[in-house]
Amino acid sequence: MIPVSAIACQDTCAPEVTWQTILQQAVTDPVELCERLAIRPEDRPSLLAACEQFALRVPEPYLARIEPGNPRDPLLLQVLPQVAELQEYPGFTSDPLDERNHNPLPGLVHKYDSRVLLVSTSLCAIHCRYCFRREFPYQDNRNSRQDWQEALSYIGQRIEVNEVILSGGDPMSLPDRQLAWLAGQVASIPHVARLRIHTRLPVVIPQRITQECLGWLTSTRLQTVVVLHSNHPNEIDGDVTAAIQRLRQAGITVLNQSVLLAGINDEASTLASLSEKLFAAGCLPYYLHALDPVRGSRHFALADDQAIALHKALQARLPGFLVPRLVRELPGQPAKTWLA
Ligand SMILES: *Cc1c(COP(=O)(O)O)cnc(C)c1O
Ligand code: SF4
Repeated sequence: MIPVSAIACQDTCAPEVTWQTILQQAVTDPVELCERLAIRPEDRPSLLAACEQFALRVPEPYLARIEPGNPRDPLLLQVLPQVAELQEYPGFTSDPLDERNHNPLPGLVHKYDSRVLLVSTSLCAIHCRYCFRREFPYQDNRNSRQDWQEALSYIGQRIEVNEVILSGGDPMSLPDRQLAWLAGQVASIPHVARLRIHTRLPVVIPQRITQECLGWLTSTRLQTVVVLHSNHPNEIDGDVTAAIQRLRQAGITVLNQSVLLAGINDEASTLASLSEKLFAAGCLPYYLHALDPVRGSRHFALADDQAIALHKALQARLPGFLVPRLVRELPGQPAKTWLA
């Protein structure tokens, strides 16, 4: 028998599932993932060894957008560990962007004159197999308030820095009160004009964009820019669209960056549809990144000439403002390098 209290609660007081709960309950077991998505055992690569190097992690709202029974699903391929990851190739390294040489203080990467990147957390809502920071030494970059004070005073001493970028990990995996504190500290540095947040969370858990979140994003003197990370039009469902619209209605500039990935989004029609869907939600495409050669990611790589040809085909399909800039990050350069 169903207890009366449960019946009474069904419609009226069912607690809303919070983004924190969704984050905590993400699927981390590869066998569970395959079972949930009806992937046949013969289609399952030997996942476990690959998981040891970089754990599997997929939250429910993202999982729900994957087509069951399709081992080539473009969202599944972004999160499913592959045997190919274990293969070593020359040129594919643990620190392809030479970030360790630009990491003067814990939690701070300063490569480009006018903007400083704060590695605010190691936590992500999702683990993307091609991630260039999959081997970033997060344990040396764990921040105490003391570390943050030092990073902030570093920025305070450099008047050429007018923009602070929160990155990670995913900064939006931190609680809002911590982000609000950090945003307040950044705003107290007079020469900083902009706060940029690089996050994939609104795409993978759109419930993340709460009133509380909009609160600290808008109650600052800084101009705030949220740069999303989405690679495929199937990632943009109604809930993601609504999350982007909430940001836009609050007056926040919303941009998107993608990573060009073989077998996932390496067709002009796919990228054109991504740009169209993002813009319909209120988000402008910003960068299309050539893959950073991080160890274990070569199976996602496209040659530069292929990438350039694809970008040309994309230009032929879209208005200029919906064409993301095709870039590669090369160590030692003062900015990203435009390939096309
Ligand atoms: C990409 C990047 C930035 C931001 O570059 P933009 O071209 O302004 O988007 C800043 N710092 C680091 C270390 C970066 O890798
Ligand atoms: S969300 Fe970004 S930082 Fe996190 S794993 Fe994916 S690419 Fe890497």
